[in-house]
Amino acid sequence: MNQLIMLGSGTSNGVPSLGVDYSPDFLANPKNHRTRSSIVIQSGDEALLVDCSPEMRLQLLREQIKRVDQVLITHTHADHIMGMDDLRAFCLKSGRAMPILARPEHQADIRRIFPYAFEDFPPGIEVPRYELYDVPPQIRCGELEIDTFEVLHGKTTVVGLRVRDVAYLTDVSEIPPTAWERLQGLRVLILDAVRRKPHRNHFHFDKAVEVALELGAEKTYFTHLSHDYDHDLTEAELPSQIRLAYDGLRIPLELSA
Ligand SMILES: [Zn+2]
Repeated sequence: MNQLIMLGSGTSNGVPSLGVDYSPDFLANPKNHRTRSSIVIQSGDEALLVDCSPEMRLQLLREQIKRVDQVLITHTHADHIMGMDDLRAFCLKSGRAMPILARPEHQADIRRIFPYAFEDFPPGIEVPRYELYDVPPQIRCGELEIDTFEVLHGKTTVVGLRVRDVAYLTDVSEIPPTAWERLQGLRVLILDAVRRKPHRNHFHFDKAVEVALELGAEKTYFTHLSHDYDHDLTEAELPSQIRLAYDGLRIPLELSA
């Protein structure tokens, strides 16, 4: 089976956020509980993990994902990499380093933040091992070819991806023309809509709606969501082709008949 699983749909604080009071109604809806943004793409037994959020371990346990073959890091903000230490479990299981695909400037961050993943340790010491690679234009995962391209998140370049007629854009404030071309003819677009108010480094609600309607995917799911959004109330105000992503959402990646 080929599918994309939304591991986390939340902004960098997560939802609920620490130190905030919420109404019982808000908390009662499981879709208002958002871990930090990440997805996994599965084809047969193989899996490409996209980002390692602080809740990565819990996300993979929740979705019963027992195998990760490679990791794509879209960018190195803390909410996208702070789960990387837990990759050690897969290194121990496979006996090899985890291939990490990242842009050169993000590889430097990973080396700085997780230096012990590149050092030699005596056998028996459990540390993660990473092998860093530049992000290729196409990533193979089972029978899927995943196209990669660049978008802007403030001044940070972030990797966007498209697999068949589904695209994923976490953390974006500007879609350059080359990326815009890759986002035509989509069945599903997953798009950053961080909060209600404008944000310098993210699409906010109004901008994300505008971009979603302009790109015209059959279905657009907003992601990287703050607590501004009550899932059900927000969906009621959106056109039917725009929905809110939620943790655990599964999107099939089969070729349409
Ligand atoms: Zn970010």
